[in-house]
Amino acid sequence: MDTRAFKRSLNHSENYHRQGFGRKEEVAGMMTSEYQSNLIQEIRDNNYRLTRGDVTIYLAEAFGFCWGVERAVAIAYETRKHFPTEKIWVTNEIIHNPSVNQRLRDMNVHFIELVDGEKDFSGVGNGDVVILPAFGATVQEMKLLDELGCTIVDTTCPWVSKVWTSVEKHKKQNHTSIIHGKYKHEETVATSSFAGTYLVLLNLDEANYVRDYILNGGDRQAFLDKFQNAYSEGFDPDTDLDRVGVANQTTMLKTETEQMGKLFEKTMLEKFGPTELSKHFMSFNTICDATQERQDAMFDLVKEDLDLMVVIGGFNSSNTTHLQEIAVENNIPSYHIDSGDRLLDGNCIEHKPLDGEITTQTNWLPAGKLKIGITSGASTPDKVVEEVIATIFSEKTQPVAAIAP
Ligand code: SF4
Repeated sequence: MDTRAFKRSLNHSENYHRQGFGRKEEVAGMMTSEYQSNLIQEIRDNNYRLTRGDVTIYLAEAFGFCWGVERAVAIAYETRKHFPTEKIWVTNEIIHNPSVNQRLRDMNVHFIELVDGEKDFSGVGNGDVVILPAFGATVQEMKLLDELGCTIVDTTCPWVSKVWTSVEKHKKQNHTSIIHGKYKHEETVATSSFAGTYLVLLNLDEANYVRDYILNGGDRQAFLDKFQNAYSEGFDPDTDLDRVGVANQTTMLKTETEQMGKLFEKTMLEKFGPTELSKHFMSFNTICDATQERQDAMFDLVKEDLDLMVVIGGFNSSNTTHLQEIAVENNIPSYHIDSGDRLLDGNCIEHKPLDGEITTQTNWLPAGKLKIGITSGASTPDKVVEEVIATIFSEKTQPVAAIAP
């Protein structure tokens, strides 16, 4: 499929909307009351610190709802108002937050279900309204919905669309897109649908393996086995790695994406020399500001002498997981939870260790004075962060409040 031509024609279709419906004012009140928090504002106003009894909360200076996520949720709310009687679907979770998705269910918005690992669009009919989430949808899904005669409301974050433009450019120049991401993540699945030849790499270890193959060759079948499911159909490491472009899932660790870009630039420089480099390597800066700011704030936060960290965000949220990685790398005991409901009575927490399964821990808040770092992923509303902090205070302190100096 000529993805570029299709996207261009979709952009001109009267059934395709990507700017909302001019009802921002109407949904602003709902967004504020459902997602914003007075306690969090109080902490922000107090230089991101708050002490109550034995507990001092250190809040990251950038955390929570990013611009793209807030925009996607607001457009989804506008869509419900604009189409009060039509059947409305979302092709996936609108964002990676259970409470926000539940709120949409409560508004009678339907979610496309997975059946045997595949999305089941059989219930979607002509005239239905289908919302594409903040991290996008595949070009094949867009085409299907267009052919079904649906009204498409596209909330894809413009930062994600920027990555799609990058891989289109790689394709045009016959470069293989090396995508730094998780090959199963919805955003990367969408990005790869716009790419020509592609290979998805998770981390620098994988990138170094590919670098070695580019420079020294190797066992072709072992390469294909190692990256099974992470490359485009027909990809051949012996012929498709001579010209590469680097792209990213917008929520990966920023430093790692930058290092990966430099690694492949250096690799192509070594293999082809400086005069040929521009024919063999392409890169565009597509790291989103929100991801960068949240990670930078986390790097600042871990410099504090913290006793522990709580990282709040969906368990399938890539940007949240990366925030937790930073805590773990800095040897700070950290607890990744997806909502305040994970804090159970009796000083007990259900949390997900990095690369582990959800587990329950008792006495997670030690006795005595505690400095607790808090951050949250880009899909987490302030209200959820408030709930967590309030529960920690009530578990740990007397109800006498004092603002930290
Ligand atoms: S994290 Fe960045 S790319 Fe993702 S929705 Fe937010 S602003 Fe957009």
